[in-house]
Amino acid sequence: MRVLVSDVIVKAVSLFLIAMVVLAMFGRLRVPGSKKIGAALKCPSCGSYRIGRGPCTCGGGGDRK
Ligand SMILES: [Zn+2]
Repeated sequence: MRVLVSDVIVKAVSLFLIAMVVLAMFGRLRVPGSKKIGAALKCPSCGSYRIGRGPCTCGGGGDRK
């Protein structure tokens, strides 16, 4: 029984580590992408959605280079 308990603990720890790695990978894939999309679609000054890369109709943001 002792051997079985230690085996279960090792399996649980390995599964936990794998889950953490998978979550970290998903976090890296999701967070930067969503930030880029949000910054590209929304005007930083008025917060309304823009079409393309042109400046916003409010005249703020967008036209920085
Ligand atoms: Zn705007």
